[in-house]
Amino acid sequence: MLELRNIVKSYENKPLLQGVSFSVSKGETVCLLGASGSGKSTLLRIIAGLEFPESGHVLFNKIDLAQTPPHIRDFGLVFQDYGLFPHLNIFDNIAFGLRMRKVSLVKINSRVTEMLELVNMQGFEKRKVTDLSGGEQQRVALARALAPQPRLLMFDEPLGALDRTLKEDLLHELRSILHKTKIPAIYVTHDQDEAFTIADRILLLHNGEIIRDGTPDEVWKNPDSVYAARMLGLGNVIDGVVISANKAKTEVGILSLNCKHRHAKGEPVSLLLKQSDDGIDEIKLKVEDVLFKRDQFEIKARSGLVIHMKDAPKIGQIIRVRVKVECLA
Ligand code: ADP
Ligand code: MG
Repeated sequence: MLELRNIVKSYENKPLLQGVSFSVSKGETVCLLGASGSGKSTLLRIIAGLEFPESGHVLFNKIDLAQTPPHIRDFGLVFQDYGLFPHLNIFDNIAFGLRMRKVSLVKINSRVTEMLELVNMQGFEKRKVTDLSGGEQQRVALARALAPQPRLLMFDEPLGALDRTLKEDLLHELRSILHKTKIPAIYVTHDQDEAFTIADRILLLHNGEIIRDGTPDEVWKNPDSVYAARMLGLGNVIDGVVISANKAKTEVGILSLNCKHRHAKGEPVSLLLKQSDDGIDEIKLKVEDVLFKRDQFEIKARSGLVIHMKDAPKIGQIIRVRVKVECLA
């Protein structure tokens, strides 16, 4: 469906996107995860046709869109600040794209009703935008984007302004709506929890390139790089030095090295430690802080290591934890 080939873009001679390539299939929700300023919004604007790449191509169904102006692309956009028209009521907001396409009044009426049902806002037709809560406004923005049956939907940090619980509810709903309508979607966020909840596939944007592309499960199990592991909140990355073919020395003890690469003795490595009862390595940690987290305790130790336990240890106590060790480079 959508395919990006080697998109390059810079601003004021500073490179931003340095050869971004990926594709989105029918019915797939792809999540683009990247730090603030990494070029996510710029990439969406390029796909929408609001901005042009210096080189590279945007294709839809194998057709290059370079000559296709934004309003002919049939792509929908949903932003963080909703972008609703404050002077129009809810009905007219959702009907906007349909009127532009000269859809008949009868069809507009039934489509708006259908969209309001889909986003769980039945009966809101006559309400004013300014009377709605943030969550309700975002539902209307989604209904407005969906109404003209776009070929692709793009979301730019759409839930950024909402509180946590509302965010989670909307995220689950959005996921089911996207799968129901089978519209391919690109969802942009800097929040890894959001990415793991909504995505069929996760793309990590870093230094102008996609450094990881995989299902949430694949990316979680194997982040591949220190940066990806940190970005995904997998946390526990620790430095070590190789002391033999399959051992590395770290500040929490000697750990096993299971790595695709062959490391020379004395070589520095970064290791990802995942807490796991069937891990073959055991580390010793001195408890620095204990935080209560719903059904467990979060224990902080030296080097920013974080582990979880059912029962709270005392601060200063030495604890032993089983871990699986993964080599990141
Ligand atoms: P993100 O959405 O990932 O936070 P953006 O795509 O908004 O990142 O912006 C990435 C960088 O590009 C920022 O440093 C921003 O200042 C710069 N930038 C974006 N648009 C412009 C522009 N029109 N002119 C100059 N610099 C821009
Ligand atoms: Mg942005």
